[in-house]
Amino acid sequence: MGLHVLKFGGSSVGSLKRIENVADIVAKRAKEHQVVVVLSAMQGETDALIELARHFSQSPDPREMDVLLTTGEQKSVALFSICMLARGLKARTYLGNQIAIRTSREFTRARIEHIDVEGIMKSLNSGEVVVAPGFQGVTNEGDLTTLGRGGSDTTGVALAAALKADVCDIYTDVEGVFTTDPNIEPKAKKLSSITYDEMLELASLGAKVLQTRSVEFAKKYKVPVHVRSTFKDVPGTWVLEESRLMESLVVSGITYTKNEAKVVVEGMPDRVGIAAELFTNIAEAGVGVDVIVQNVSKDGTTDISFTVLRADLRKALEVLEQNKGALKFRQVRGDDRISKISAIGNGMRSHSGVAAKMFKALAKDNINIQMISTSEIKVSCVIDEKYTELAVRVLHDCFGLDKISTKEVDDFR
Ligand code: ADP
Ligand code: ASP
Ligand code: MG
Repeated sequence: MGLHVLKFGGSSVGSLKRIENVADIVAKRAKEHQVVVVLSAMQGETDALIELARHFSQSPDPREMDVLLTTGEQKSVALFSICMLARGLKARTYLGNQIAIRTSREFTRARIEHIDVEGIMKSLNSGEVVVAPGFQGVTNEGDLTTLGRGGSDTTGVALAAALKADVCDIYTDVEGVFTTDPNIEPKAKKLSSITYDEMLELASLGAKVLQTRSVEFAKKYKVPVHVRSTFKDVPGTWVLEESRLMESLVVSGITYTKNEAKVVVEGMPDRVGIAAELFTNIAEAGVGVDVIVQNVSKDGTTDISFTVLRADLRKALEVLEQNKGALKFRQVRGDDRISKISAIGNGMRSHSGVAAKMFKALAKDNINIQMISTSEIKVSCVIDEKYTELAVRVLHDCFGLDKISTKEVDDFR
């Protein structure tokens, strides 16, 4: 008998019927294993709660926001446990503050710091299925927190790590991790396995199937993660330390994110230290920067463009306007209709020409590249948001990802 953590996403618990389906899956697993179930809020619930708060404020108080957002998961776990108990199965809900999942005080994006497993171990040993809400935690002072969008994945993997579970199953609305978002490119291939590092890269560049922090936890504590479908009982994708398949590919995935916005600062005096000054202002406002491009200077002035999270665009523009006197630029403008599209692959370390191939493919379809950033294992381009889906398909095709063989499976289990 092993200990398994099963996490179900919002669409998996999106209706009462779907909650019954989850109960079927859990009941079957619980016949042979100790089971901890982690649930997201029902599909659309978190978005709806955010909308409610926006009625009063565009930037609601983060602490109160977390009091509100945690109710989404509270509702789904309670309904699920009621469903299990009505079937005569032993299940018991433990909220984030009861477990307890201790986090930092960064409301709406808190980090898990410690998990007390004693209580849930007792419950498991008495034969109960433990049911935990994803996405929520509690500070040392007893305040409720949430872990950032998609945070239930992190709850699942962190609980699996703390409990030394044999596996963390991430049940979702797709059959696993694909070479790109299968909802955009139907020819995307399901990967039988993927390494933690590569998954980390995919997740941080936009593949929302796993929250980035959940992969960081999985890597740190070596939790075997199995991403799989709630609706079809077929093998999914194993996220592991090593994967033979990924090593053989130059480009193994295409991602996109519409999370970012572009800031263009025009006509800055081109003098030593000006970039340092500008980005110090931005950093002091607590705004993170991603891609940066500085144009060649003409007539002693230059333009600097960079991307920030869309949610931070207004703040970034405000800070720059406040410092216009010191920075002496002509004007600043923001554009939130951009997307960042990336080609990722470990094989890039030893192969050249990936960027050129990517730019050529985008150009062939008349997609203008606004900004570029590269690392050892990825090339990212910022483009007009309206071409996102087209660009995903063009790049997936240009790197032949629809033709790769994904049959080899690591002998994991
Ligand atoms: P859940 O509600 O179960 O947490 P999410 O919506 O957070 O599900 O994540 C699953 C979604 O991730 C899929 O429906 C898919 O559209 C998207 N996705 C993006 N990139 C990928 C990828 N490379 N492989 C699989 N799914 C992906
Ligand atoms: N309910 C939260 C969200 O929608 C957390 C999650 O589903 O993982 O972001
Ligand atoms: Mg998710």
